[in-house]
Order: sequence, then C-alpha cells, then structure tokens
Amino acid sequence: MPGIGASCRLNPRYNEASARVVMPSGNYTRSQMLAHDLAGRLAAGDVRALARAIRMVEDRDPEIARVLREVRSRTGRAHIVGVTGPPGSGKSTLCDQVIERWRSQGHRVGVIAVDPSSPFSGGAILGDRIRMQRHTTDSGVFIRSMAARGHVGGLAAAAREAVRLLDAGGRDRCLVETVGVGQSELEVMRTADTTVVVTTPAAGDAVQIIKAGILEIADIFVVNKADLPGAAKVYRDLKDLVRQTKGHAAWQPPVIQTSAQTGNGVDELVEALDRHHDAIATGGELERRRRERLRAEVEAIVVERSADRARRALHERTMEDELAGDLRDVDPYALAERILNPNGQTGR
Ligand code: GDP
Repeated sequence: MPGIGASCRLNPRYNEASARVVMPSGNYTRSQMLAHDLAGRLAAGDVRALARAIRMVEDRDPEIARVLREVRSRTGRAHIVGVTGPPGSGKSTLCDQVIERWRSQGHRVGVIAVDPSSPFSGGAILGDRIRMQRHTTDSGVFIRSMAARGHVGGLAAAAREAVRLLDAGGRDRCLVETVGVGQSELEVMRTADTTVVVTTPAAGDAVQIIKAGILEIADIFVVNKADLPGAAKVYRDLKDLVRQTKGHAAWQPPVIQTSAQTGNGVDELVEALDRHHDAIATGGELERRRRERLRAEVEAIVVERSADRARRALHERTMEDELAGDLRDVDPYALAERILNPNGQTGR
C-alpha cells in the first residue's frame, strides 16, 4: 500500500459502529482512514459525507476509488432515471415535479445535474436550477451539479460514480439531468436505467430534432409544455416515430404529454417510470444495461490510467538525444514505442 502520511491502526470498534462497511484489519495511511471513515458515514446516510465524496469524484481524488470500493455492496438498489432534452424544454421544472411525487411516495431522492459545456460546478449551475431549489431544505432530496472541469475520464464517468455514491447513500430514486442533447449528454444518459427525452411544441419539428442517437436511448418521450399550441401534433408525430422505429421492440416507448408548470401529466410520467423499471428488471434488460455500464466504466479507467502513465513516461524521457541529429533519421513511431516501453517489450 502506498505510504502517504502517517500510518494508523484501524480501530476495531469502528467496524461495529459502522457495521456495513468493513475494512480488512491492518495498517492504513491517514488518507486511507479518512476514505474509510467517509465510506462508513456515507453508507449510514450522512448527507455531508455524500457531498464530500461527490466532490472527490469531481476532483479526481485518488482515494475515491477506496470509497467506491467500500460502498459497492450497498449499490444496485436505486432506480436511475436520465432526463435529457434541449435547453428550455422544461427539464428542471419537470424534475422538480417528479421529485415531489417521489417524495410523497416516501422515496429518498438524489439528483445530479450535468453540464458538459460549463467549466463551473457546484453552486454556479445549481443557481440556474432554481426550479428544483424548493427541495433543498428537504434532507430526503440531495441535488448536486457537476461540470466537466477537464475531467480526463469524461463527465459520463464522473456522473456514473456520483450516481453510485447516491445509490450507496440510500437514495432509491436518482435523476441525472443534462443541459442539452449533444454527444456528451448522450454518453451521460448511458448512466441511466430509464432515459426520458423531453421535447416541446415550441421546438418546431420535434421529430427532426430527435436524432438517431437519441431515438436509440429513449425509453420514454415527454411532450412538455402541453399547454402550448401544437402539442397534439408533436404527440402524434412522436407516436408515429415510435411505431415506425420500435414497432416490434419488447418495450414500446410511451409518449406522455405534460405541463410541468401545472403538474398535469406528471403522475402518468411517474407511473411510466415504474413500469419501465419493472419491465427491464423482469426481462433481464436491467442487468444487461448495468453490465454494459460497468464495461464502459472499466474502459474509461483504462483510458484514464494509460494516459496518466504516458504522461509520466514523457515527463521522465526528454528525447533530446534523438532530436539533436538529422531529423530525417527520427522515426516518430519507433521513438514513441521506446518511450512507452523503455524495457524493450513492444506494445503490439
Ligand atoms: P430546462 O432548461 O430544460 O431545465 O427548462 P426549465 O425547467 O428551466 O424551463 C424553461 C422555461 O419553461 C421556464 O420559464 C419554465 O417556467 C417554463 N416551463 C417549464 N415547463 C413548462 C410548461 O409545461 N408549460 C409552459 N408554458 N412553460 C413551462
């Protein structure tokens, strides 16, 4: 184990107190102990520990791997719902309504609002999520914004880890909301068990806007702002689109009209979320999605760690000798190979 900081012995009584998160006995560094302590508090439902752990995900704190490992056995219980759609389509307002329904059903809720385009995080975006803020005084609702912040493993990886922490912290309903419908948002949506795509009558030809990637991931379509003119046409167009493209699929994505401002149609949406969860859980699809998610996670970690190793190798090896002579003699591929494999084993 890496010897960072002072070493300390695990207090066996701690294991009794935290019961669910047990670390093998032995000597641990201070940062490892703090991570262990954090995992214990998080598993016990401590909101501040949850916030701290999500912050560690954003900061790429190396100890987050330990926290995630220790709480892993407590995950897999949450229903993770992704909500995507163009900015201004009413996603936050809709999420606010869904949160209210879930709370009245006694669920504990976690929300991750993701903005791939913004370099800011925490309060900066949450300020914009004013429509969900009436829940901030309710300890049964945990809302957090996340931004890219030059994250090597990608925002999707960060969102996945954050959702896992929410799940471990006892949030049995999780919302992952994105700001737009770009490629990064699609990646983030793969974090979800159920993906809701929100459109509006104001979006013009909604069917045109539904790009191939979105159609593929949509489990439920919502026509929000159904109080505005044109909603019925968007509804019909989407119904036709579903019939044409998913006519034979085991799950036919329902199209639901909502008015998030008044709450009309929100009960129907919440029921559809439950139905979709039940359908994929019984058909084995939930397991398949989770397996794919885990695969993507491992891939992201491999890419991130490989990039770290490559950067370290470049830092240690200057190339000055090779670049001092006739540049036509430099084979960049061969040199790159020697930097990556200084001991001579080739990468292929
Ligand atoms: P987001 O950017 O997708 O999260 O959208 P917001 O939830 O911030 O909503 C954008 C605007 O649309 C706000 O002014 C909302 O009050 C308004 N809005 C949301 N839902 C509805 C709705 O069902 N009907 C109408 N007319 N306006 C809505």
